[in-house]
Amino acid sequence: MRIAIASGKGGTGKTTLAVNLALKLAESKNTLLLDLDVEEPNGGIFIEGQCIVTIEARRMVPVWQQNACNLCGKCPSLCRYNAIIKLGDYIMVMPELCHSCHACSELCPVNALPMQALPLGTLKHQSLGKLDFVESRLNIGLEQASPLISQALSYADKHFAGHDYQILDSPPGTSCAMISATKTADYAILITEPTPFGLYDLSLAVETMRHLGKPFGVVVNRWGIGNSDVLDYLKRENIPLLAKIPHAREIAIAYSQGDILYQGFPAVDEALDQIIKHMEAAL
Ligand code: SF4
Ligand code: SF4
Repeated sequence: MRIAIASGKGGTGKTTLAVNLALKLAESKNTLLLDLDVEEPNGGIFIEGQCIVTIEARRMVPVWQQNACNLCGKCPSLCRYNAIIKLGDYIMVMPELCHSCHACSELCPVNALPMQALPLGTLKHQSLGKLDFVESRLNIGLEQASPLISQALSYADKHFAGHDYQILDSPPGTSCAMISATKTADYAILITEPTPFGLYDLSLAVETMRHLGKPFGVVVNRWGIGNSDVLDYLKRENIPLLAKIPHAREIAIAYSQGDILYQGFPAVDEALDQIIKHMEAAL
C-alpha cells in the first residue's frame, strides 16, 4: 500500500505526519518512509537509523562535440525545453534546463550530442527496526526534482515492493514535483490547516488529486486556530475528513525539539489511528 502525504503549501505539518505515521505503522508492519521533498528533505531530523547505503543519483545531458557538428541547426528546434541554442557557429547546451529526454542526442544527424551522466543528488537508505527510511536530496543549485523523484520511486519499487506500507513525503504545492511524487500512490492524504491560506492551497491540491483520479482524504492540522471554513468546504465537496490534530503549544515545542509526537501526545496518537482506519477502509 503506497500512501502519499501531500499539502497545497509548505509548513502545514506534512513531514510531521509522514514521519509519525510511518513510525507508528512500523511498530508492527514492514514500512518504508520515502522522503521525496527533494529540495528540502527533513525527515532525517526525526529519524536516525543505521545507514545501509548512500547512492549518488545522476542525470543524462547532451555534450556538444564541436568537431563532429555540421551546424545544421536542428537541435535547438528539437528541444522542447529551450535547453539548446545556436549562437553563430557555436551550439550551447544549458544543463540546468535539460530534462534528459535524449531527443537532440538521438536525432542529431552526425551524433554530435552524445549524452553524459552528471551528478543530480543522493539517495540515502537507513534502517530502524521494521522501518526503512530513504531520503532523496537534490544537489544545491539544481532544479530537476522530478528525475530524482523518479529514481527514488524506482529504488522503492526494486527494494521494498514486499513491504506492507510505503509512505511518501511529497514536495509541497501542486508543481510537477508533487505530481511526480503522488501519481504512483494508491491513496493520498492531504494535510492542511484551518486558515484562509490553508483552504485556498487545499483546494488546489484537491483539484490535482481529482485530475490524477487518486482516492484521497484530508487531515486538518493545528485544529483550534483559524475558523471552520475548511470543514464546511470538505462537507460541500464530499471529501472525507480523516482526522483533526489539535493545535497546542506543547506539540509545537516537542516538534521543534525533533520529538516523535504520537509517543508523547495521546491526541496525535488517536488521530493516527483514525487515519490508518480510514486509509485501510478506502483501499
Ligand atoms: S543537430 Fe547535431 S549537427 Fe546539427 S547543429 Fe545540432 S549538434 Fe550540430
Ligand atoms: S536531452 Fe532533451 S531536454 Fe535535454 S537538451 Fe536534448 S532535447 Fe533538450
